[in-house]
Amino acid sequence: MSQNNLDAIEYKLSFPDLAGHRIHVQMTIPAPQPQGQKLFLPAWIPGSYLIRDFARQIERISAHANGHPVDIRKITDHEWQCAPCTGPLTLSYVLYAWDLSVRTARVDNQYAFFNGTSVFLGAAGHEDRTHHMVLTAPDTQSQWQVYTSMPCAQAHPQAAQRHGFGAYEAHDYDALIDHPVLLGEPVVSTFTAYGGLHELVFTTPVPGLDLERITQDVEKICRAQIELFEPEQPEAAFLDSADRYTFITLVTENSYGGLEHRSSTALMIPRRNLPTKSQAQAPVDADYQSFLGLVSHEYFHTWNVKRIKPAVFSPYDLLRPNHTHLLWVFEGFTSYYDDLFTWRAGTISKRSYLDRLQKIITHVHQGAGRFKQSIAASSFDAWTRFYKQDENSPNAIVSYYAKGALVAMGLDFTIQARSDGRRSLDDVMRYLWQHFGKDYYRGTPKGIGEDEMPALIEAATGVDCSDYIARYAYGCDDLPLKELLAGQGIALQWQTQSNHPGLQARIEARPDGLYLGTVHEQGAAHLGGLSAGDMLVAIDGLRVHTQQQLDEVLGAYEADATVTIHAFRDGVLQTCAVRLFPAPHDQCVLSEINP
Ligand code: ZN
Repeated sequence: MSQNNLDAIEYKLSFPDLAGHRIHVQMTIPAPQPQGQKLFLPAWIPGSYLIRDFARQIERISAHANGHPVDIRKITDHEWQCAPCTGPLTLSYVLYAWDLSVRTARVDNQYAFFNGTSVFLGAAGHEDRTHHMVLTAPDTQSQWQVYTSMPCAQAHPQAAQRHGFGAYEAHDYDALIDHPVLLGEPVVSTFTAYGGLHELVFTTPVPGLDLERITQDVEKICRAQIELFEPEQPEAAFLDSADRYTFITLVTENSYGGLEHRSSTALMIPRRNLPTKSQAQAPVDADYQSFLGLVSHEYFHTWNVKRIKPAVFSPYDLLRPNHTHLLWVFEGFTSYYDDLFTWRAGTISKRSYLDRLQKIITHVHQGAGRFKQSIAASSFDAWTRFYKQDENSPNAIVSYYAKGALVAMGLDFTIQARSDGRRSLDDVMRYLWQHFGKDYYRGTPKGIGEDEMPALIEAATGVDCSDYIARYAYGCDDLPLKELLAGQGIALQWQTQSNHPGLQARIEARPDGLYLGTVHEQGAAHLGGLSAGDMLVAIDGLRVHTQQQLDEVLGAYEADATVTIHAFRDGVLQTCAVRLFPAPHDQCVLSEINP
């Protein structure tokens, strides 16, 4: 409900050109700023830490007031200035929406999906007002329905019925851009967990889709997470949110991704990752596991980053990068708990969980970048480094997701060990929820200070972990995983992936030959003078045009043999003497000590 409907900022959205992928918007500001209204479009979308310049998709924009045009001009990449006028001020604009991604907008005759950060201009100075979104169905798609966690605008003359076209309401601009919207005829199922209605929405039909199995598994994961944060009063986990939680899943051929919101998430998943009824008796395979892991990850963000936040996100500055050293907490902890909850909830076996974990351990230990950059530094540099990776990234940076998940796991085990099993990371999450998250949208929002984590962990558990955090989150040391896991009854071993010596470079097979991708620092290729981008020609005169040829040729040598490698670099033949190295023992294998 809105107490100030007359002052509300309103956006009328229509879709007259689905084939051209365009969204038409008419925005009305009842009382524009007397000195001239300023408008902006976010430069980035919270949860994805890269400047994306959404404003570049606006094709036309004009302003009117009282039947007369109002001068409007662009003043920065993301902002416009209108001439002074008396209200109401109306902006008309058209934007291009053709990006298959959870971060932007995609419109055609199959479905329309959009994030508010791509669509809703912000009216500077009016961010705290009620905002209304009024949706009109495309003429040709009158059977479409609306799926979003944004509440219906009950007091609005054009109030939408749930899933219908008409008016929806957000109590401020921050909420307006935090409820993505799907229009179409999706496949839908629902369940209720502790009083919270959950909708599972899939954009396109998947032949034989086992919706019942998916719904049961997702419900188990959601219940387990709610029980973590609110064991006594699970209904309270939903106190401040909309009347539902919506999983919007864009079903694709090959694309994968997810983005969290306060009462919903947008997921993108290849068709093959969804189980069919023909597989009903089969255990969860790796493809379906990655879907459940994604669901679990984004749902965990409902608490960890959408309500428990870094202070610098409170509020977000939507026009420039918001730097924090704490993404290892918000993405790292979430990455630890995502797979853990698929196991805790009983949707995958312990063996499957260990398979997922050993892959993460292997991935982290294959990059020398982990000795140069801490996960705290990687968090801060997300905007320019983690989100802008190139062939050298494994040598230069570390993932605050993957190493962050391992640091979270080690922290969990360390808290358990130092408290004689009485406390764990779960207690930290509950403490953060009670002290930061629970009232985030219901009072004065408060975030976690950049240096506050060690003190908060101690307050939550009575355990001092500042030494651990300094060493593994702010320093570059490898975690003592063998010891940490042994304490949990899990044995860690390192194995080789290959039985012949190698180049320690990532090989890309293209139609015209084999190219070097990442050349690992201090590996055979690096020390022999080969570079990323080189096309392999021959080893000791024998052609290496396919991966199979390369494996056969390398398989003939002992480790430490020196070979002559010919390669083209930008069309010029290079001749390199390369001393081969034995295949590294960099594949993690986990097993239960007393299964
Ligand atoms: Zn995440």
